[in-house]
Amino acid sequence: MKTEAKKRAVFFDRDGVIFKPIVMDGRPRAPHSIVEYKTLSGIMPGAKEAVEKVKALGFLAILVTNQPDIAYGVISKKEWEWVQSQLSSIPFDDIFICFHRRDDNCECMKPKPGMLLEAEKKWNINLAKSFMVGDTESDVLVAKEAGCKSILVDAPYNSSVSSDMRTHSLSELSNLLS
Ligand SMILES: [Mg+2]
Ligand SMILES: [Zn+2]
Repeated sequence: MKTEAKKRAVFFDRDGVIFKPIVMDGRPRAPHSIVEYKTLSGIMPGAKEAVEKVKALGFLAILVTNQPDIAYGVISKKEWEWVQSQLSSIPFDDIFICFHRRDDNCECMKPKPGMLLEAEKKWNINLAKSFMVGDTESDVLVAKEAGCKSILVDAPYNSSVSSDMRTHSLSELSNLLS
């Protein structure tokens, strides 16, 4: 039997990468309501085009995101689902979400590599030739744990975090993928 060549992937974080971050006291967070999404967040400029571009280059585009806010009671499930549905115009190949709270001690919450390892199995991914695009140290750490390269999207709150690579904006992302 012929073994299929492993695929390469670009993993994307949601908040601060695909959605504009809401920055409070110098820290980024997800929208806590539909109103917050509409007034303070929204789709990051160039996000859809960046995902289309990485796919055109032959990569899988996979969203991997921690979303503990329903469990913490800061957003209702219904409002969270509306916010998440704003991603539907972006052609991700797959979406992995950790809904746990920190004290659940799950294996999927970034910076643990659970979601990336699940994707690796499901899609036959070569993690060493894949990338994790994020905006916080957790995204850099999960990339390291999973053995892929980290790319930070520049933001005032991550200027002191070191990563394998950085990009000023999503529209320049594809230049880094080789
Ligand atoms: Mg983020
Ligand atoms: Zn989890």
